[in-house]
Amino acid sequence: MPPLPPVPPIWHPFTQHALFPTMTRITGASGGYLMRENGVPLMDCIASWWVVTHGHCHPRIVAAIQHQATVLDQVIFAGYTHAPAEELAAALLALTPAGLDTVFFSDSGSTAVEVALKMALGFWYHQGEKRQRIVVLENSYHGDTIGTMSIGERGVFNQPYAPLMFSVDTIPFPSPDRVDACLTRLRDLCRQGDVAAFIVEPLIQGAGGMMIYSPATLRAMYEICTAHDVVFIADEVMTGWGRTGTLFACSQADISPDIACISKGLTGGHLPLAVTLCGPAFFAAHFSEDRRKTFFHSSSYTANPIACAAALANIKIWQEEPVMDRIQNIIQWQKHGLARIKALDRFDNVRQIGTIVAFDIRGTTQGYLSDIAPKLYRVFEDRGLLLRPLGQTLYIMPPYCLDAQDFDKIYSEIEQVARDML
Ligand code: PLP
Repeated sequence: MPPLPPVPPIWHPFTQHALFPTMTRITGASGGYLMRENGVPLMDCIASWWVVTHGHCHPRIVAAIQHQATVLDQVIFAGYTHAPAEELAAALLALTPAGLDTVFFSDSGSTAVEVALKMALGFWYHQGEKRQRIVVLENSYHGDTIGTMSIGERGVFNQPYAPLMFSVDTIPFPSPDRVDACLTRLRDLCRQGDVAAFIVEPLIQGAGGMMIYSPATLRAMYEICTAHDVVFIADEVMTGWGRTGTLFACSQADISPDIACISKGLTGGHLPLAVTLCGPAFFAAHFSEDRRKTFFHSSSYTANPIACAAALANIKIWQEEPVMDRIQNIIQWQKHGLARIKALDRFDNVRQIGTIVAFDIRGTTQGYLSDIAPKLYRVFEDRGLLLRPLGQTLYIMPPYCLDAQDFDKIYSEIEQVARDML
């Protein structure tokens, strides 16, 4: 047996401790900035893993959390209910596309997706139909549980667990030259009659490398599924809450998914919470005096009242503050920034959808394990920016409180690093 390495008291996610033994200590946050222990602020250019929308420690969300914590902290959600969950469900159903009529609570993007899969599979099972196959898009990411890894791209993230993952059918990513191949494969699979559901990240795949495709293709996928009674699941965990320029990405394709998964920005990025919304047929398939048809899914903190209060405060901010105007400004500042990036001539596939931009470093190793990623992570951190490249892909997914000066700083630093290092 080789000697044991020094074992830290905390094992960090997506972190190779052998290469990065020291974590940056954060002591506070406000708006678009994190405060480091050394007193030097760090601009949060990736919204702390894509969750923070209006800014860190938003006073209205903080106040809602503080108030709710003194009223009702937690209660079992089987057989019990409470005002924050009821008000939040009503508010979400008013904001989301028609046809989504009921809300199931959970606490992360992965669990929202697991719930969606179980809803779709249960829907067919309880009607006595043998539809068990799931169709996915190449290069997808839906989470890190065994179920969500099974429907995600197979590779370095999940190789050790491959024997435990269930098989799925994968259709090609619809890059401009493969739209037909993508849709034809989806149609062929749906025709076979045993497909339960198709799950997709609408308009942009996040962890798969910020890969963008068109609303027309998303709509065509939806129409194929609908024509063959295949349940269409939209994973809006990353795309929701304005990231693609509209509140939810599906609206750009003018579609109403059968099931939608929402998390991350649901509480403005302040507390963990998720919802899976679905139409009446899914509820109806589980509605029975036969207890075996109960929807057997829960987690201890389902619909935690404090998290629900944070989400309600988030929705009020959307309703009462000019969030869409802020997003429009960000879209313009990002567009100007991308013109600077293009002029550098060191990046390929310079792309934007709504508030998100991404570009690929030219001439470096491709893939998530590209050495350039951890190197740049530290270089940008030294320059006051939290940017965490996905392999060779550098992206910016900001909270909506950053201003023109912040964007100028982001792009000036990237220009400097590109000239010095790339
Ligand atoms: N689905 C998508 C599209 C995601 O981007 C993510 C996380 O990045 C997830 C699901 C999983 O969310 P969580 O990390 O909250 O479990």
